Amino acid sequence: MEKGAIINHDQEKAPKTGDWRYMKPEIDAAKCIGCTTCVPHCPEAVMEMKERETQDASGAGSTLRVSSYASIDYEYCKGCGVCAQVCPVKAIVMKK
Ligand code: SF4
Ligand code: SF4
Repeated sequence: MEKGAIINHDQEKAPKTGDWRYMKPEIDAAKCIGCTTCVPHCPEAVMEMKERETQDASGAGSTLRVSSYASIDYEYCKGCGVCAQVCPVKAIVMKK
């Protein structure tokens, strides 16, 4: 296998391993800029991007803006902290 390769698990068959976790990553969705950096770095492949609608009141009038943010499936996250390390805006904090 190539160094740094990512293994994609078959999550339908995988046991739920989230309760092995010692530290829990918490995403501040307001800080997340939707860069997607954390998603391919997660060794458990449990991160995905979701979309949200926000009201943009800048300029004339207000418009609905669609942006993306990262989300974690805690049933499988093992709390390794890689996502928090790679996030360029420190939107992920590891908590006990
Ligand atoms: S702590 Fe590790 S396993 Fe959990 S979401 Fe972050 S990178 Fe993935
Ligand atoms: S790396 Fe940080 S800013 Fe980028 S999508 Fe993940 S949580 Fe959001």
